[in-house]
Amino acid sequence: MEEYLAELNDAQRAPVLQKEGPMIVIAGAGSGKTRVLTYRIAYLMHKGVDPFNILALTFTNKAAREMKKRIADIVGASESKNLWMGTFHSIFAKILRFEADKLGYPSNFTIYDTQDSQRLVASIIKEMGLDKDIYKYKQVYSRISSYKNSLITVKAYFQNPELMESDAMAKRPRLGDIYQNYVDRCFKAGAMDFDDLLLKTNELLNRFPEVLSKYQDRFRYILVDEYQDTNHSQYLIVRALSDRFQNICVVGDDAQSIYAFRGANINNILNFQRDYDNVQQYRLEQNYRSTKNIVQAANSVIDKNKTKLDKVVWTANDDGPKIIVNRLLTDGDEGRFVASSIFENQMQHQLPNGDFAVLYRTNAQSRAIEDALRKRDIKYRIYGGLSFYQRKEIKDVLAYLRLVINPRDEEALKRVINYPTRGIGNTTVNKLIVAANHYDRSIFEVIENLDRINLKINTSTKNRLENFMNMIKSFQIANETSNAFVLAEMVAKKTGLLLELKKDTTPEGVARIENIEELLNGIRDFVEGQKEVADARGALTEFLEDVALATDLDQDKGDDDRVALMTIHLAKGLEFPYVYIVGMEEDLFPSGMSMNTRSELEEERRLFYVALTRAEKQAYLTYTQSRYRWGKLVDAEPSRFIEEIDDTYLEYLTPVDDYRYKPLIDSDIFGEVDKSKLRLKKPVSGTPPTSHKPTEEQLRKLRKLRPATTNDAATSKSNLFDSDLVPGTVVEHMRFGRGKVLKVEGVGQDKKAEINFENGGIKKLLLRFAKLKVL
Ligand code: ATP
Ligand code: MG
Repeated sequence: MEEYLAELNDAQRAPVLQKEGPMIVIAGAGSGKTRVLTYRIAYLMHKGVDPFNILALTFTNKAAREMKKRIADIVGASESKNLWMGTFHSIFAKILRFEADKLGYPSNFTIYDTQDSQRLVASIIKEMGLDKDIYKYKQVYSRISSYKNSLITVKAYFQNPELMESDAMAKRPRLGDIYQNYVDRCFKAGAMDFDDLLLKTNELLNRFPEVLSKYQDRFRYILVDEYQDTNHSQYLIVRALSDRFQNICVVGDDAQSIYAFRGANINNILNFQRDYDNVQQYRLEQNYRSTKNIVQAANSVIDKNKTKLDKVVWTANDDGPKIIVNRLLTDGDEGRFVASSIFENQMQHQLPNGDFAVLYRTNAQSRAIEDALRKRDIKYRIYGGLSFYQRKEIKDVLAYLRLVINPRDEEALKRVINYPTRGIGNTTVNKLIVAANHYDRSIFEVIENLDRINLKINTSTKNRLENFMNMIKSFQIANETSNAFVLAEMVAKKTGLLLELKKDTTPEGVARIENIEELLNGIRDFVEGQKEVADARGALTEFLEDVALATDLDQDKGDDDRVALMTIHLAKGLEFPYVYIVGMEEDLFPSGMSMNTRSELEEERRLFYVALTRAEKQAYLTYTQSRYRWGKLVDAEPSRFIEEIDDTYLEYLTPVDDYRYKPLIDSDIFGEVDKSKLRLKKPVSGTPPTSHKPTEEQLRKLRKLRPATTNDAATSKSNLFDSDLVPGTVVEHMRFGRGKVLKVEGVGQDKKAEINFENGGIKKLLLRFAKLKVL
């Protein structure tokens, strides 16, 4: 353990060594907050604290897994398995399953994801005969969500004239009624939505003192990462659970609070001192992540915010290169610039795709970047789009599985009752819904009792409904005896889902079948991993829970090497050597919808601070001169955030007298352009800007090559262009020695080869630079 403690600086070690009492670590980005939490947990275990008594709450499940892995390195894997670690939602979903009956829920309750919840809201709005243009289901849902996160129940809502007034003012006087219906329907379906997982936990802890006491006693040590982004509901849970032992350690950075729009409350940090006695405050000031240029640039930006706690962030790291700013004509050019720059960096420094991230303000921006990366054959992964588990074909299979576990699950039932088509039309489904509401039962229960109620449904439809019910019941029986994988396979076949998909022979159709295969593989892996769980049914419930709560990052098994594309919101807590922040334009970033008040603008600025501080070695900022917004090409202006960075940390690639970036490799990025149309907002002062293109001398240094002699140049040239480099050719490289060519791709300037070197393993080299000798 001593050895591990030496991996911390003094400021970091202090909160790790303080075993008891409330403590708060407020510190800037990259200063080791997450590291402190990790080592603190390891240290507690080292000091004899039972891992069952430790609860650590993280922002993503992936973060929790990584922390656990690190802790396992320090204290051993067998003990660290018993730690309670995960997001608020995943931890409290587990607790709610144990205690569900107290709240009147079945322990196998379904978790509705956002899509399920929104569909239900839309359906209620329709059933109530309300105007769907006024009652926009997404807005209504997010309103309900924010009530829940502020712990405003339906009852509390109707006791609060101000809230009702404000919804009435927004022309939505029936919002409370929709809320009421929504809550009733979820309850009847045995379903909780994401917000319920927090709201119901609060209810549980409030209403049942013995339950509260049990968990207080269990979680003697509580740790929370990214504390600045906890909402009120989460805050209350933490406060209640830590009330007895007061061993609570929270870490956060007010400058990285970026979820106010979703109810995160910065006051949680400010009030911490007030909530607990003798709070120890720690500050970390040294950033280990980024270069001086990046740290100082980020500091200069966040300085512009008025609402902030005073903090110092410095780094002993190198200056590093300046932050590169580039102006492009269109988003297509922006994408191509990013792709070619990534390519250049990879070739010059031999870097894997995983070293690069492209961050944007809105998901829609990913398309142009994707196109360009695809053209360059650079593998990437998009986070935050439609996640795997939200794809239609996957949700269809999952819906059947959900029904097996909980036949009351209304959203699952509506999804598949007539898919694949089995002649149960909308009219029938609507009749079922009306009857379910009337009898205060679930739709499935109505189907089970068709004989006892008069629904005006003809005999053949009735038969079809009964067949559907019997099929689900047969799956339930199978589930008692077979494991989740066997069941899922049975569902895919017997429901006709696979057959239906096989009719579609387009590439998209084939991809959908592959996705289902992938899902089945996932279930099999899960079952294998759960061998100790004797109850197969339990395994299925758990699998579905994991799926419902899987954040996008969780799907990243880290097993293949890809450039990461994601919104800045998702990038919180992560780090990458190279970061491209694209779309640095007014109205986009800062977002046009967030410029009405100072506090909104400050949140955007914090978002920019988060983006910039993800970079370890080099950051790029790009903006375009015109961009399609809502279908129209509009003039774009560079973001004010670029100007807010101290000029000393920036290098403009687009010099005043030459709007063109001259890439090392791409000569085809820009067509001819009417120069008179180009505006440059910020002239570069001082010495004329130098081209970013490295001199031969610099290139040599970068590649640590000995100076090329005339001879070398001649040889390499003749070798590269006169001989056909094909897989199998044996070559010699100045640094890596002899190697065998595995693959050749690209043409002309872009031609590169994958070579297995005796001294360097497999490398991908740009032939133009590689100076290979064919042996
Ligand atoms: P963020 O605010 O972005 O969440 P953070 O404060 O949680 O950042 P960490 O992610 O814990 O910071 O640390 C940033 C990087 O610095 C990590 O790669 C971490 O391993 C490294 N690091 C932190 N402390 C040290 C240290 N004492 N010695 C070496 N590396 C360190
Ligand atoms: Mg962190």
